[in-house]
Amino acid sequence: MESYIYLDNAATTKMKPEVFAAMKPFFEEQYANPASAYGFAGKVNSFVDEARDEVADFLGAKSREIYFTGGGSESDNWALKGVAEANRKKGNHIITSKIEHHAILHTCEYLEENGWEVTYLDVDENGFVDLQQLEEAIRPETILISIMFANNEIGTIQPVKEIGRIAHEHNVLFHTDAVQAYGHVPIDVEELNIDLLSASGHKIYGPKGVGILYVRTGVKIHSFIHGGAQERGRRAGTSNVPGIVGFAKATKLAKEHMQEDGAKEEQLRDYFIAKVQEEIPFALLNGDPKRRLPNNISFCFQFIEGESLLMLLDQKKIYGSSGSACTSGSLDPSHVLLAIGRPHEIAHGSLRLTLSDETSKEELDVVAEELAQIVDRLRSMSPLYEDFMKKEKTA
Ligand SMILES: *Cc1c(COP(=O)(O)O)cnc(C)c1O
Repeated sequence: MESYIYLDNAATTKMKPEVFAAMKPFFEEQYANPASAYGFAGKVNSFVDEARDEVADFLGAKSREIYFTGGGSESDNWALKGVAEANRKKGNHIITSKIEHHAILHTCEYLEENGWEVTYLDVDENGFVDLQQLEEAIRPETILISIMFANNEIGTIQPVKEIGRIAHEHNVLFHTDAVQAYGHVPIDVEELNIDLLSASGHKIYGPKGVGILYVRTGVKIHSFIHGGAQERGRRAGTSNVPGIVGFAKATKLAKEHMQEDGAKEEQLRDYFIAKVQEEIPFALLNGDPKRRLPNNISFCFQFIEGESLLMLLDQKKIYGSSGSACTSGSLDPSHVLLAIGRPHEIAHGSLRLTLSDETSKEELDVVAEELAQIVDRLRSMSPLYEDFMKKEKTA
């Protein structure tokens, strides 16, 4: 394979060879349906149990509180729809934020069409929800607060523990979309007052199409997929055994390497951010400089289009994103960048680079250099920039 620089790890990651190796026997040899009655199946089922234990241990949860799903989007859908339906007698109000992933936002819109009310909290210029605004938004009929752990576009890490504390003081359930945070920052569901949590395999060097929903014991939630008795009858369908085993292996690797990898990525992240701020004028960092994911870099470059930037980076075999893989292809600027107060024209000039544990300083030096040249070139063709510079001179 020819060389390229992959900096879109928030969209998906390359699976670790160890994860693939752990999964392989469950395609080729241990292929029995774990729900079947003979010993061959029971053996396979014991690996599913082990996987559940591994994940539970990582989150400080009990094994019976971990449900395997078909990925992050499914977990988000299930958490919201399942809690909404099961708690309808108590109330019909949900609180979320304006910067959630579309798996949350579009599910909320669906619930609104079906009789639920949703409050979308603002965030400040760094992407934080306001705890006072959160508390004021709670009504007697509020059943659920769903706020993401860390944002997929700008990397900001929310004050999750305080959000959970406020939720519980008001007897409201707290769900967090932790797809970007799981395996990257420590999470303990007890300590952080979390009732439901979504995570996904392919964001942590694991397989695509498998995720988890953590559901605290006692939380009222409807089943999501009706059918067989898998996942305690709440998420039917023959277990995705290779996926489940792969998810657990990726979790185990994250547990072992999270601290070291995180520290290394954080250093590279800050190195790159400083370099860009030094070398490229009119570059605005998106998200909080400190309380952000170790691997997230997000900028808006004034006077240029993120799409052109991506295209020219692509020509150099540098792969980034203009925000979210889910919004690319649409011409609307990112809802996250608008929510942190970037004007439309500036939000359009966004670039997100997300590192992996394999990203090197050498790669980032190459990217910084190419980026500076590309930004320069695009600005030299921009009438907006020309106008701006003229005004600067006469001012
Ligand atoms: C990727 C992502 C999802 C969706 O997860 P899938 O497994 O791809 O369905 C949800 N929320 C966030 C924050 C994400 O980054």
